[in-house]
Amino acid sequence: MTESISRISRFQPAIAPPADVDAHLYVHVVESRVWIHDEQVSPDWGRHFLGVLDGRAYWGVDVPSDLSLDPSDGAALDLFSLFGRTSEDEWLAAGRAVQIVDWARTHRFCGRCGTPTELAHNERAMRCPACGHMAFPRLAPAMITLVTRGEPGPDQEALLARGVQFRMPMFSCLAGFVEPGETLEGAVIREVREEVGVVVDRVRYLGSQPWPFPHSLMLGFRAEWTSGDIVCDPTEIAEANWYRKDDLPPIPPGISIARKLIDHWLAE
Ligand SMILES: [Zn+2]
Repeated sequence: MTESISRISRFQPAIAPPADVDAHLYVHVVESRVWIHDEQVSPDWGRHFLGVLDGRAYWGVDVPSDLSLDPSDGAALDLFSLFGRTSEDEWLAAGRAVQIVDWARTHRFCGRCGTPTELAHNERAMRCPACGHMAFPRLAPAMITLVTRGEPGPDQEALLARGVQFRMPMFSCLAGFVEPGETLEGAVIREVREEVGVVVDRVRYLGSQPWPFPHSLMLGFRAEWTSGDIVCDPTEIAEANWYRKDDLPPIPPGISIARKLIDHWLAE
């Protein structure tokens, strides 16, 4: 019955360029901003292969932070600003560039013995030549949930919340990171209870979205209210309410899986 809300991208991540690709694009990573160029501006800067999109090889270029001038001359954009100005597939490649470059920048030394690391040959890893410790790119699974109450139909309500950290006055789904030792469904039930005090069940997965801020993988769920009144955790949630489909507050923009979860519910 339920269709996935995941978008299957044409961008294909890989660790080495295929032999038959001869067109290249370079995603220069300036701090955490990106600037896409058809040449690598300096051959001295480190680079990482990202993957292939529409027959072109994409590279992430690590622009040193100690340059006196921004080589992009102000053209580099943060990933939020880039969204909508390029294709969603290229945006995913740019997000991968930021994550891979940032990972390499922050894993230059072994976390176990402190020796400078080297890039491994056959996989995406930084390897310690002294003790053999391997460090892989980080991905933090985070779940995001739309909680509904009542039978499907015009009277069904969804729980939307305004987080204390939101930059815009909008209401969204509940989200949180998965803890070590926890299932995804367990994380959904725990986070909903912690953030707004209500008990849910019938947790079901709807789809995922890479979220490179800085290295999350968002896993989208629906869950059904079973009991409890809304009691917000004031350290996380400024306000939360039940909303009918015909009376929604401001909701997140289309970039986010939160919006896809809400749109999926509205379309039911
Ligand atoms: Zn080591």
